[in-house]
Amino acid sequence: MSASTQSTPSKVNARKRSLSELDLQQPDMRIHHDKMDFINLTTHSGNFFADPIPLKWEEEDPELRGPVVATTQHPMQRNAIGAHSGSYCIYKALAVACGKLDPNYLPKLHMTRPVFNIGPFPTWHDRTKIATMDPWGHMVTDVFGAYIRKGYDVRPTIAVTKAHIELPEVKEALRVGRLKPDGKILNAEGQAFVSKAAVEPVWYLPEIARRFGCTELALRETLFKETNMMYPELVTRPDLHVFLPPIGGLTIYIFGDPDTIADESVPLTVRVHDECNGSDVFGSDICTCRPYLTHAIEECVRTAQQGGAGVVIYYRKEGRSLGEVTKYLVYNMRKRQEGGDTAAMYFNCTEQVAGIQDTRFQALMPDPLHWLGITRIHRFISMSDMKYQAIVSTGIRIDERVEIPPELVPRDAHVEITAKVFVGYHSGAAYAEVNEVSAVVLTCSRVRVWLGLGFRVIVWVRVRCVVPRDAHVEITAKVFVGYHSGGGRRCQRGERCHRMYGGFRVSG
Ligand SMILES: [Zn+2]
Repeated sequence: MSASTQSTPSKVNARKRSLSELDLQQPDMRIHHDKMDFINLTTHSGNFFADPIPLKWEEEDPELRGPVVATTQHPMQRNAIGAHSGSYCIYKALAVACGKLDPNYLPKLHMTRPVFNIGPFPTWHDRTKIATMDPWGHMVTDVFGAYIRKGYDVRPTIAVTKAHIELPEVKEALRVGRLKPDGKILNAEGQAFVSKAAVEPVWYLPEIARRFGCTELALRETLFKETNMMYPELVTRPDLHVFLPPIGGLTIYIFGDPDTIADESVPLTVRVHDECNGSDVFGSDICTCRPYLTHAIEECVRTAQQGGAGVVIYYRKEGRSLGEVTKYLVYNMRKRQEGGDTAAMYFNCTEQVAGIQDTRFQALMPDPLHWLGITRIHRFISMSDMKYQAIVSTGIRIDERVEIPPELVPRDAHVEITAKVFVGYHSGAAYAEVNEVSAVVLTCSRVRVWLGLGFRVIVWVRVRCVVPRDAHVEITAKVFVGYHSGGGRRCQRGERCHRMYGGFRVSG
């Protein structure tokens, strides 16, 4: 095992007993949600009696570190700027505004604990490794239990669970024999068994500023101005160093035994993927995003079946973090420009529309890898030099980089892949000859993709019940509360076949 696994959760559990509710001050219960004519500003620390719960980001002991308190319920003791759930806090506000949600509601967390263990690792108290998420975010009921029992609204910012996933591409890999079922990582039906974690962003501003080479003050002022002054505390509360930004979070998918991830001697395959809704979900053929993602999942399954583990980190950074509207504007410009869509103009078009080619800023990306205790990646499924450099510069070793197989590149995406290789993405042997005219070579392999698509249709047709096995609970519950169920479409998967959407029974 690597040195990074020496710290165990049992030590943490032993330490937490030293902090009791009696040691904590009473939470501020002066809540003013029901009196909108009186809003208590906490934008200045001295004048308005704000007394935040101490939060020392780099303390190893979680009790000394302190919980992230971002609730709207205790404004005086809150120690973070911003609200929970990233951008979704706005929907919570809507629920409160229309009277559907009691703003004083405290979440019932006792049955929500992680279903497997992650950490702690030495990286958890090293700001150069983790500054964009709360490493204790999945363990708040354990390590900050005293606060919760006292009445503080301390909420998880990470949730850890298990799931089954089914992808047509993985089923196709099974069908043609690239993958074999083993019943543990992948079953004969093409279901993969995964452990996963959802992570909300929690930023430690001094370290974010360091990584971007600016002062914390400059970072705070810029965030304040560029959000049109949404967060006055960024400039008025220098005593609060933690910010919950209103941006998307990330999801971690783990294939194989999560306990082996931090062990350098066990093979590990990793892809860090940035969201592309058009391709990932809807199958747009203008880019390589979904093919690369599913290729990575196939590689992760293979590594896990060989006794190692696979990790896919899915970042909500749509359109290189410029958003989907900007992305579609760029698509239009690419197709309409003189000479048509060319690799040479690929990045230039984005810059003309957005003023910049990319705002993903990989300096913040490696944090979840460090949260998992990763110190060595045997196979990195990515051609991006920016991602590669960001990871290795924080001390994680990468043995091998794996490019997307050319036969997986969709027809319209040849411009993209050619442009990327042209500007210096890691091309591997498969793209060694890529240049502006080489798309012709790549196009030859398209026949195999179309054949693959043909077989995929056959797979879809043969599986008559399109509701995944684990989703029967969800669909049944939805029908029960009144979702439109149709005229009794019959589920034909195994013993669950008796369920008719139109004739739901509670006992089912
Ligand atoms: Zn894409």
